[in-house]
Amino acid sequence: AESLDTAWAVRWIGAAADAVAEHRTELVALDRAIGDGDHGENLDRGFTAAREKLGDEFTGPGAVLKMVAMTLMSKVGGAAGPLYGTAFLRAATSLGDGDASAEALAAALAAARDGVVSRGKAEVGDATMVDAWTPAVDAAEQAASNGASPAEVLAAAADAAQTGAESTDALQARKGRASYLGERSVGHRDPGAVSTVLLLRAAADAAGA
Ligand code: ADP
Ligand code: MG
Ligand code: MG
Repeated sequence: AESLDTAWAVRWIGAAADAVAEHRTELVALDRAIGDGDHGENLDRGFTAAREKLGDEFTGPGAVLKMVAMTLMSKVGGAAGPLYGTAFLRAATSLGDGDASAEALAAALAAARDGVVSRGKAEVGDATMVDAWTPAVDAAEQAASNGASPAEVLAAAADAAQTGAESTDALQARKGRASYLGERSVGHRDPGAVSTVLLLRAAADAAGA
């Protein structure tokens, strides 16, 4: 498809809720190693609540993402709730009212990443979800400018996010709870970077990538 519609966004959030539930214990284990062990529970609670609101009427993909933002902000808490809440809200605003073209998706991902950075002040290399988001945005923008379809843009973003999440293994955490461990955070994958991959992969899958 040349652009992605409300039904795509609804499929995405349903798939995201499935993925987070399926990987809940993995996310908990990652966060237990370098944080407080709640990342999987937090996200599962948030996306389960968002899924329950998918039956409502939405006027476009941006409206779905705005609902998700509000739900995550009220249900998730911790660091990830406000960060993902901001990401979804900025993406919703970037998309506006219409369906999402490849270029619009790349711009929405960039807006989401910029929201995470403005809220959390992490840079690439600090071993946070920004290490997944930033290569995802770069790959999405490159794919869109090369004429990729919306599904291809999202698949490129998910693939790059996966590589970015793997890069956190070797990094010392400099933001969030994991930074309290200092050098002992090296050798662990950041849970928020892993959940970012799950969310982007769900978006690509929902687009038929
Ligand atoms: P909490 O640490 O409050 O328990 P979660 O466990 O739900 O929150 O989320 C932890 C994740 O949040 C980390 O793995 C990291 O990816 C992300 N994170 C934490 N602080 C920041 C920050 N300042 N900037 C970007 N991401 C962050
Ligand atoms: Mg935690
Ligand atoms: Mg916590």
